[in-house]
Amino acid sequence: MTIPLQHRPHHLLIASTTHQTIQNPHHIQNAHVESDPLQAINNFKKLLIQHKGFTKFDLPPALKACSKASALSPGKQIHALSIKCCLSTDIYTQTSLLSMYSACGELDAAMRLFEKMPERNVVSWTAMIKAFLHCDQPEMALAAFREMQMAGVKLDDFTVVNVLSACARLGMLNLGRWVHAYVSRGCFILSVFIGTALVDMYCKCGSIGDALAVFNSIEKKNVQTWNAMLHGLSIHGYGLEVIQLFEKMETDGEVSPNEVTFVAVLCGCSHSGLPEEGQFYFNVMQKKYRIEPTVKHYGCMVDLLARTGRLDEAFKLVTEMQIPPNVVVLGALLSACRIQNNVFMAERVMEKINRMEKDCPHSDTSHYVIMSNVYSQAGLKEKMAEVRMKVGKKPTGSSWIEIGCDVHEFAVGRTSHPMWEKIQQMLVEVTAKLGRKSGREEDLQSSHSEMVAVAFGLLMTSASMPIRIAKNLRICEDCHDAMKSISEAYGRVVIVRDCTRFHQFRAGHCSCNDYW
Ligand code: ZN
Ligand code: ZN
Repeated sequence: MTIPLQHRPHHLLIASTTHQTIQNPHHIQNAHVESDPLQAINNFKKLLIQHKGFTKFDLPPALKACSKASALSPGKQIHALSIKCCLSTDIYTQTSLLSMYSACGELDAAMRLFEKMPERNVVSWTAMIKAFLHCDQPEMALAAFREMQMAGVKLDDFTVVNVLSACARLGMLNLGRWVHAYVSRGCFILSVFIGTALVDMYCKCGSIGDALAVFNSIEKKNVQTWNAMLHGLSIHGYGLEVIQLFEKMETDGEVSPNEVTFVAVLCGCSHSGLPEEGQFYFNVMQKKYRIEPTVKHYGCMVDLLARTGRLDEAFKLVTEMQIPPNVVVLGALLSACRIQNNVFMAERVMEKINRMEKDCPHSDTSHYVIMSNVYSQAGLKEKMAEVRMKVGKKPTGSSWIEIGCDVHEFAVGRTSHPMWEKIQQMLVEVTAKLGRKSGREEDLQSSHSEMVAVAFGLLMTSASMPIRIAKNLRICEDCHDAMKSISEAYGRVVIVRDCTRFHQFRAGHCSCNDYW
């Protein structure tokens, strides 16, 4: 089926520029936009300088090139040009401009354009949803999605994938399920594109069973599909299943594993404490698949060795890395030193981090927090105080919980929730029941966001349902302990997804076995 040009969404329009090339020899080659966006931008500039003329169809690919290269200044010039050429009402130009501004991180400009659009189609709505996602505002993405539905605009594949991605980030399982049902009901074929987004959403929302069901129903899987499933199993701590699935991937032989696949496999081995297996696949990756390890792979290996108490080997690996280690790799090693109470090794790692900081200062100061914990555990109060001074402002912790199809966000010290009174009472009850600290008002206000979310979950959900919480930072030890006690005292399953993995609390135990 051929769609008349004026009805084509802009991504198809860009793909179809070969037709235009015949009519317009100066047309920007689509290949450049993808592979060499800077060249594509220059080609467009040349077109203008040489007065060769251009059509309105030249603008979307040129803007796409600007998006790819995050080139705001030429993007703005094209914007000015579009105004001059009376394209302010052209939906394709406007949508391409919106995408360009969002790719360059200019969300306000993207929103202004969107608001001024005289007409909006599914492509422009999806571009706006994607813009919010790109700028790390998944709640706004979902708000835009709801507005789009109110406007009676039907979703397409790209909308579905972006909405699923927002659900995955916020841990909104119910809404994700609704989208799945919508896809199954409607005339959507379960493409690998949508299928992979569903697998990813179910994994990240903590429903591994649903993820596997969708995964198995996708006939032609690509490497992203396999990676999504492997990564999902891995963050849930199903290390052996990760290995089984990877073996199946190898025997099926349809797609070849890539470097992301091995991050998932090594991460899975690490989360489940399988050092021999991890070492084995680290070698397979390099020898059989000729994939050079990246810092991510080294990070997993360091974590894996350190977790099983092999700190010396982990340190040796860091020293012998073929690429310079980054703060993440060294941070993993430092965390391991904290768990093993090894002050001597921790100081050596810290030296390395300090040397690196000198060359390129890093805004993240979480390693100082870990180091101060190392000193505190060893009873070295003075040294601890010294390191504490260097700790920068911590990013604010937020937690989300989905009730029905609404998501509720909580942050430390934020008391604006309409049910705050009741939540506070619940927090008092919980603290009393667990025999923890006093439950004074100021203590309650400084409760970590996941504690507020779990109190709200206890209030709002029925006993048979697991309480699912997503958190932007790593869960702290104190809250981790509290969650274990809550799962026991209230007989509830509590699932917390923090920035590294899932913790499933059940009957006083956590699925991470207290290592995270
Ligand atoms: Zn906490
Ligand atoms: Zn845990």
